[in-house]
Amino acid sequence: MVGLRVQTKLFIAIAVNIVLFIGVILFVIKPYFVEKSIEQDRAMTHDQIESVSEVFGNHRLMLERILVDWSVWTDAYDFVQNQNEAFIENNMGEETLENLGVGAMIFLDRDRNVVYSEFTQFYELDREEDKEIFTNDLIRYVNSSGIKQSAVYGTDFGPVVFMSHPIVKSDGTGESGGTLVLIQKIGPDFMAAMSAQAKTILSISPLSHQQLTVDLDNQFARVSLPLQSVYQDANWELNFSVKRMYYTNTQTMLETGMLGLLVLGLGLLLTLFWSVNQIVTKRLMGIVNELKWITKERNSRLRIQLHPNQQDEIEEMAISMNEVLDALQQTQKESLTRAFRDSLTRLPNRLAVEEMFVSSPDTTRSIGVMGIDFDNFRRINDQFGQRTGDAMLTFFASRLMFYKEDGFVARIGADEFIFIHPEWTTEELMIIANQLVKDLREWGLKQGMNHLTLSIGIDELTGPTHHSYEVMMARLDVVLHEAKASGKDQILSYHEIEDGSHYLQALEMERDLRHALRHDEFELYYQPIVSPQPFQVRGVEALIRWHHPQKGFVSPGVFIPVAEQLGLISDVGRWVLVRAITEIQEYAERFDLFLSINVSKRQIVDDSFLEALEETLAKTGFPPHRLHVEITESEVGGNVYELQQFIQALKAIGVKISLDDFGVGTSSLSYLQSLCLDVVKIDQNFVKGIPENKFDRALLEGLYQTFQTLGLEIITEGVERPEQLAFVLEYSGSLIQGYHYSKPIPVDQLNLYLRKTVMTQI
Ligand code: C2E
Ligand code: MG
Ligand code: MG
Repeated sequence: MVGLRVQTKLFIAIAVNIVLFIGVILFVIKPYFVEKSIEQDRAMTHDQIESVSEVFGNHRLMLERILVDWSVWTDAYDFVQNQNEAFIENNMGEETLENLGVGAMIFLDRDRNVVYSEFTQFYELDREEDKEIFTNDLIRYVNSSGIKQSAVYGTDFGPVVFMSHPIVKSDGTGESGGTLVLIQKIGPDFMAAMSAQAKTILSISPLSHQQLTVDLDNQFARVSLPLQSVYQDANWELNFSVKRMYYTNTQTMLETGMLGLLVLGLGLLLTLFWSVNQIVTKRLMGIVNELKWITKERNSRLRIQLHPNQQDEIEEMAISMNEVLDALQQTQKESLTRAFRDSLTRLPNRLAVEEMFVSSPDTTRSIGVMGIDFDNFRRINDQFGQRTGDAMLTFFASRLMFYKEDGFVARIGADEFIFIHPEWTTEELMIIANQLVKDLREWGLKQGMNHLTLSIGIDELTGPTHHSYEVMMARLDVVLHEAKASGKDQILSYHEIEDGSHYLQALEMERDLRHALRHDEFELYYQPIVSPQPFQVRGVEALIRWHHPQKGFVSPGVFIPVAEQLGLISDVGRWVLVRAITEIQEYAERFDLFLSINVSKRQIVDDSFLEALEETLAKTGFPPHRLHVEITESEVGGNVYELQQFIQALKAIGVKISLDDFGVGTSSLSYLQSLCLDVVKIDQNFVKGIPENKFDRALLEGLYQTFQTLGLEIITEGVERPEQLAFVLEYSGSLIQGYHYSKPIPVDQLNLYLRKTVMTQI
């Protein structure tokens, strides 16, 4: 019954009960009644047998009486002795036998000779010979001992009751003078008379059972009663049937009863089922459905519908369930309060702000918001201890509460607060902001903290587009970032930084850079690096170009630093590496060129560059010695160890190291020496003043000498004019990279350039 519905279980339970009930009636009560009825019928049959025996017994007695009357009589005695006609004349009238109710009367003498015979009932015997034959046939049965006899014998005319008695004198003395035989024909008339007396239809047949037999069939008890029980000698039996009245009645009654019970049971089953369903199951299902709905809606205010007019257990259950729901709502409320409140300042928290925006989305009016962020909060905590930090936050929270009026304040981060006032403008909030700054500073001074400052961002949310928690937080984030970026201790409004925010620009740039990476907006230009005498293109530097779909060409000087800041440079760098090697590989082999690519600081610390480099070299088969990796001098300072590791790893592969923009940074020569460089690229700023500027000339001359002494390959960047070229040629064997030979050009132009220069040489 595990997976069944209550309705089905109920149905089965009721059905089982009814079947049990019927079973008890069928197997216990019915047999009892049947047994009872059989007993009653048996008694009735017994009575009937008694009555039949009695009827025949009486008849026999009657015949016996007649027999005694006629045989114990001196007249009769004399008659069989002397055969005096007078006896017959006096005693045997026409109707004597009929009156006596006897079929035949035969007087025999001592030798069993027929003295006189008289027949009634045997109408078939009209001839004297026949009578004689019949009489002789009968007297065979008379026994020789001469005692009285009663029997039933079969004759040609059917069975007859045969009775005999010795004929003696009236006083009974003396010896018998003969025998008197009385015959009673057991024909239809006799049987009818006996049946009438016994009150049942009797028939007679030759003996088939030695004793009383009662055969039962469905309706009757068929009795065979041997006549030996009545007569001394009889090979006949009486047959009659007794209706099994009790049995048949009980059977009919039980059958009708069972049918009635079955119908009643079925009816009961249906009514019970219907009632239980109506009173219990249906209502329970109603409650279950309501609970399901409540669970689905997840609305803690919903309750099960009550029916006050039904005061029963189910109603009590519904009430209890509602009480559970009440308790749950209460718990939820309490945990919400806990979840919505900051435990230190007791101010609402970030969740509460969000909830406020979601639950009351009033988009009609303008809302003034102010985000406040403590400057250097961590340092204060570290320096003065967490207790002081907490005290500062608590103090600040109390100030916010003081100013908030109808507004709303919350602590939305460790050192971040928000102040919302539905009616105030930027100007009004500015006043509060200044006041807060002053309050904090004064509090700090009292605590011995000299310069506590705040970064505050103010915004006015106007119109429906601003009225969402996300938009509000994003805008406050922008102003606060800007305030922090422009040196902290600032009160800025979103309005004033809207157009010029670096932060916003950076955000936009980030989005665009990601887009550019995905949509292949980058391209590589290549600038030839040549040895002037004899003229030969020795290598190319890959320089990235960005064709922004809206802004057009964006200089790498602008977006590379942003990409670095945002951590996107590794992706850009990998792209450059793979693209440059694939594009230049063929030219590098054909024109014996090296390929120089730029890497930035972030890539040096990021292992993924080295992995990508090895993988690309292995995949393309590009010879490592033809690859120069440019590291910018200004970035080299700082993390020496990591840089050395990086350089060693590159060298192990066989790649050359080039120091870019030499002269911009402040690295010492000895330090540079420790890096095991292959190439130094002198920044274009040194070349700009050549040949006019004496100082520049001296500097450049000195650099050439130094690097040549150190055995480094030199590349001079930014050579534009012939005079500059002449100077470089005069003082060094440096390679040249500059507009004088070529600007950075796309790969197909590089192809032309290379072919042209080779041709010119020839
Ligand atoms: P850089 O590596 O020093 O590249 C040389 C810069 O000088 C290039 O500017 C080039 O166009 C410019 N230049 C070359 N010859 C002359 C000349 O005769 N006169 C003048 N005025 N300029 C000359 P570009 O392409 O704008 O690149 C600027 C900087 O962006 C590069 O300086 C490099 O630091 C960075 N950069 C470019 N491509 C990549 C790159 O793929 N990855 C990285 N990490 N940085 C790159
Ligand atoms: Mg470079
Ligand atoms: Mg450079």
